[in-house]
Formats: sequence, structure tokens, C-alpha cells
Amino acid sequence: MRILLLSILFFITTQILAKPITFTEEEKEFIKKNTLVKVGMMPDFAPFSYYTKNTPVGFEHELLNMISQRTGLVFEKTIAKWTTIYTAFKNKELDVITSISYKKFREPFTTFTSSYYDIPITIFVRDDFGDYVDIKSLIGKKVGVLKDVFYIEELKKVGDINLVYYDTYEELTRDLVYGKIDALMQNLTNINYFIKKNLYSNIKIASELILPNTKKEDLRLGVNPEKPLLASILQKALDSISSKEKEALVTKWIGSIKEYKGGHVELNKDERAYLNTKVIKYCINPDGLPFEGLNENGEHTGISSDYYSLFEKVLSAKFELIKTENWNESITYVKEGKCDMIALGMDTYERRKYLNFTSNYLNVPLVVATTVDVPFINHILDLQGEKIGIIKGDAFVKILRQKYPSLNLVEVEDIKEGLDKVKNGKLFGYIDTLASIGYEFQQKYFGELKIAGKIDETLKLSMAVVKDDTTLLNILQKTIDSLTKDIHREIFSKWIPIKYEKGVNYDLVWKVGLGSLLFILLVVYWNRKIIKTNKLLEIAQKDIEEKNKALEKLATTDKLTNLYNRRKIEELLELEINRNERFGHYFGLAIIDIDKFKEVNDTFGHQAGDKVLEELASILNTNRRKTDFVGRYGGEEFVIICPESDLEGTLKLMETIKNKISEYPFYRVKHKTASFGVTISKKGDTVKSILNRADIALYDAKNAGRDRIEYK
Ligand code: GH3
Ligand code: MG
Ligand code: MG
Repeated sequence: MRILLLSILFFITTQILAKPITFTEEEKEFIKKNTLVKVGMMPDFAPFSYYTKNTPVGFEHELLNMISQRTGLVFEKTIAKWTTIYTAFKNKELDVITSISYKKFREPFTTFTSSYYDIPITIFVRDDFGDYVDIKSLIGKKVGVLKDVFYIEELKKVGDINLVYYDTYEELTRDLVYGKIDALMQNLTNINYFIKKNLYSNIKIASELILPNTKKEDLRLGVNPEKPLLASILQKALDSISSKEKEALVTKWIGSIKEYKGGHVELNKDERAYLNTKVIKYCINPDGLPFEGLNENGEHTGISSDYYSLFEKVLSAKFELIKTENWNESITYVKEGKCDMIALGMDTYERRKYLNFTSNYLNVPLVVATTVDVPFINHILDLQGEKIGIIKGDAFVKILRQKYPSLNLVEVEDIKEGLDKVKNGKLFGYIDTLASIGYEFQQKYFGELKIAGKIDETLKLSMAVVKDDTTLLNILQKTIDSLTKDIHREIFSKWIPIKYEKGVNYDLVWKVGLGSLLFILLVVYWNRKIIKTNKLLEIAQKDIEEKNKALEKLATTDKLTNLYNRRKIEELLELEINRNERFGHYFGLAIIDIDKFKEVNDTFGHQAGDKVLEELASILNTNRRKTDFVGRYGGEEFVIICPESDLEGTLKLMETIKNKISEYPFYRVKHKTASFGVTISKKGDTVKSILNRADIALYDAKNAGRDRIEYK
């Protein structure tokens, strides 16, 4: 049943993972002829493409590796700052450029693939910036941006921001830290990287940058339009990446760059080349939790899986689990070359015939489990003459047999069989690591079996690589050497919540404390389970909150202008009226209607009309006061609500806005004016009555010749 289940799981997961690509004959031909693709990438665009010591690493490098593996294309990388690769790409000296955002003006020289990641653009300021309210807080300030970023034009429309242009992210960040500029705009992920790398502590996020048409920075591959086949091949390769694989890429590079505390692994050229071109296939003991095993989804879990995730991150390498039914099959796979290595194994003479071992990175004491009525076992020789179970094929069997020939060792398939046989009286005891037995106890045998004693031998576990692959062995050994004690401790204590302290009299601990240790194990296990569940709930909650926020925004925002929509404006009016009633406060209201707007559509087309509406919205939004609300009430009519304003204040503000509008060089139309109907709230007003008054005033303004303000 279990085997059936596992193979179903295996089937399902491979279905999720592998999306086969079908290339057309033309595409196949292209790949055959053009294996070398010139690609431009950035040196400082962490975590997408950057350097760790002298090695280029990052999300995009791994993405390209995946594409290489799937298509057979080989990328020749030019790594240089953005302006350099962008120019080279425009001049067709490069076939492909990474990290490019879609913009219409780039279309003549770029074929875009779909986006492989969307990053929010963030405004960073120094701690001493003062109050950041909205983008207008940047007016009159020095704001650093990277040359040629796509939102510069939109940004210029906001008002008099003093833009300072940079070539590299590092300079940009440094200048903010040292006060040469007041703020910077860049995508969140890579500035975060520099902050962490240099431990900058005086800058913070002010806000996400939201401008019309500018929400997130979409990262795509840009392809030379003269090579449409290359573009379609790359698109197919991107499409073949499953959501699971994408998620793994994101967590590896974006979600966890801050987590790795270990040292740096210095690899030579051969070793780097090895990792760039090879997926390392490894086998585990699928039944060896907490050391290693498969979770409900058939994925690698346990101590060795934590080491693997770490290794993948440190080395930017790709490890692929080759699933097996049991440990013996894993050994067979290694012998047959179906796996390059095993994750965790004991270094024995026998195995050295076909495997090379790294130094051991896990040392684990062994214990013997019996039924509860058996007295304490002081020494392994107390077990003489009794039938003792041990896992079949375990390297330890041989060692124990040689060392203690008088023991009656019986091999069992797996730990469950061993413990069940002890429970049913078919075996006297069962030998395994404390960790594995403890883990099983938590699940099943609590109260029926106990750990009767410790055995002097300890299990020393290493990684093992097939004999002929010394490059991989060296890479793994270097990585193991780079791991700090803290990392080992963190991983170990995550899975085995027992403390081993130096200088403790273990015998006493064993005799007195075993029962309570097991109890603690059980409690810790449940706590971990509860904490995990709570975390999942928290994540789900956050997700729902975010989705609600997004929905709320959708429901209250006008799509074209990003201003409040009619519904929201009426809701805000209702709120202001209520405040007015309770506290006797005033507020001003203006309806703004563009003069002769129909002509814009008739002369320049509807799209130009839309553009003018966007520009007008941006004028209103930049010139309102912090406390005012601006919305698009319909077609070419806008509303401004000015809380706590009297007639004089409201008229003054509208005068300013009216002048800004008539001075603004609108898209194609150049000159455009608007008429204003203004009113102030009164006792007993309703949403309808106040809008009605403003509308009458607007009608008067139109009748009196337009480009005017009237009030009622
Ligand atoms: P006036 O207000 O000065 O009397 O003249 P007008 O030309 O602006 O008059 P009216 O209010 O009758 O016309 C408004 C026009 O605005 C009608 C419609 O074609 C256009 N319009 C409304 N909504 C949109 C929109 O979302 N996009 C574009 N391009 N045009 C719109
Ligand atoms: Mg109108
Ligand atoms: Mg009009």
C-alpha cells in the first residue's frame, strides 16, 4: 500500500515538475546551428545577477542554466553595467539581454518574452528624512535613479524633483547612505541586498513607487527581433518552468538571501564549470527520518535535506533527488551510476570500493530499544544471546558483527519492522540511532517500548560520491569545511531537540533521564507541530489581508487615472458630511470639467483623449494638499474634496490648479483648459445636495465662457 502510494506520489510530482517542450522543425534547426547565444547581464543586480567573490551568481544565472538544460542553447555571458549591455543590445552586438522591462519604445529593437519576475519599485530615504507622505514629499529633493530606467518620464511629471542619474546600484545606494542624495528609487530586492551586504543602518523604505502606468518592474528576456526563432525557443523554455520550480527559484534567491550565515566557498574554474553544467543526482534513504526521508508530497525532508538546501544556495548548484523505494535500492542506484552521490552514509571499507567519502558531518550515538519491562542495559554485551534487530544493509551490521561476534544480530527491512518485532516479542531489542528511534517513538510506540541503553559506538555520517567523480567530491568537501558550528547546531536541533552538553555524566543521564527525555521529545514534537500550524495560519491570514487590500483598491480606484472612482468619492463625501454634522466642520468641494474635451477625441483620437485625462489627473494629484481627496467622477469630470477648508481656501487652491492646467503642454493637444464648480458644505447637506450645488456652479462657469471658477 505504502509503495503504491509512494509511486502515485512520485507519478504526480513528476507530472508537476516536468513540462516537456515541443520544438518545431525550424526551432530544432536553429538550435543545431546556433548553440552559442550572446547574452548581456548585470554585475550588480542582486539577487538576480551579481558577484560573490569572483563568481557571477543569482536568480537569472540559474534561470539561464535551466534554459540551457532544456533547449541545448549555450549562453555566452557578457557581464557589464546596464548602460553598456543595453547599448550593445540595441546595436545587435548581443542576442539577448536579461532583466529588461517591457516598454513600448523598446519594441523596435526588442522582442520581449513573458516576465519571469515582477519586483516592486521602492523609494528609500535616510532615517533623518522626516515625514514622507507621498511622492510629492520628494519635490525639491535630490532623488537618485539608475540611468535609463523606464519610469523616468512618469517621474518628471510629478513635479520639480531633482533627479540624479547613476550607472551602478552600489554607487546609488552609497550616495544615499552618505547624504549626497535625499532619496533613491530602485527595485526592492537589489537595494536590500546592498544594505545587508554593507550593513548600512541609516536608510529605510519610505513607500512603494506608484505612478500612472508604473507599478512593478517586470523582468523579461529581451531578444534581438531579427532572431524570432530564438525568441520563441526562449519563450517555450520559460513556459516549461513549472510553478513549483519557479517558487523554488524565488525562495532560493529572493526569499532567503539574508539567511545564509556560513563562510564562502572558493571554487576553481573546473568546479564552477561543473556546477554550471550539471544537475547533481543524489539518492537518499527514503525511510531514515529524521536524518532523511520523504514528506507527504514525496519530497526530500529531514536533516540531510536541510544540508542540501544550504548547499544549493551556497554553491548555486542544482541537486536533484532520484527517488528509490529503500536504502538498498539507493546503494544499487549508486553502483549503477543512476545517482552521482548519496546524501548521508557511513564511511566503510566495503563501500570505498565504489564510493569516495567526504569527512563526516554528522556524529550520532546509537541506542537499543526494548519493551518497557527490560532492565537497564549497561553494555552492548548485556545483549549477548538475545535476538537483536538492526536495519538490513546498514554499514553498522558488519562492524558490530566483527567487533562482537557473540551478538545475535537479525536484519530487518526498516525501523518499523524492527520496533514492531520488539513490541511483539519476536526480538529482544532493536539497535538504531537515538534520533531515529526517538522519532518513531513520538509517532507510535510511546509507553510500550523504551530506550534501554546506549551503545558505545557512534555513527559517523558523510556524503559519498561515485568513485570517478573527484570534482564533485572536492566541491562537497569544501562546502562541508565552510559550514560553521552554528549551522550544524541549527540544523541538528531543528530535527533532534535534545541537547548534548560536554562534561555531563552520560551514564547518569541515561539511567535517570531517559523517560523524561522521551517525554520532552514528545512535547517538543507537538510544540513544533503547533508552531508550524500557527505559522501556516499566519501566512494564510497575511495572504488574505493582502488580497483584500488589492480587491479594495480595485473596487475604489479608477483604472485609467489611478484616482479614486465615483463610488469611493461618494463614500468619502458621506464620511465628510457625517464628520461635519458631529463637529460642525466645513469642507470644500470642487467639480472640474475639461472644456471642449470632445474636440480632443474628434481631432486626435480616443487614445490621445485618454492620455490627456491621465495627465490632468496627475496635475490634480500633485497639486492637491496632503489632506485633500481627488477622484474621477465620470468621463472628463473630476472631483476634489478639501476637508477643513473654507470658501476662500478652496477657491485659492482651485485658482492654482486652473493655472497649472492652462499652462500644461498636454499630449498632442498642447493647450487645454477646465471649468470649476465650487461649493462649501452646509448643515443638513446630503451627498446629492452638495454635488448638485457644485454642478450648478460648474454650469455657470461653462456658460460664462469656460476656463473659469464659479461657486454656489
Ligand atoms: P464642455 O464640457 O466644455 O461643454 O465640452 P465637452 O466637449 O467637454 O463636452 P461633454 O462633456 O459633452 O463631452 C465630454 C466628452 O468626453 C464626451 C466623451 O466622448 C469624452 N469622454 C468621456 N469619457 C472619456 C474617456 O474615458 N476617454 C476619452 N478619450 N474620452 C472620454
Ligand atoms: Mg462633461
Ligand atoms: Mg467637458
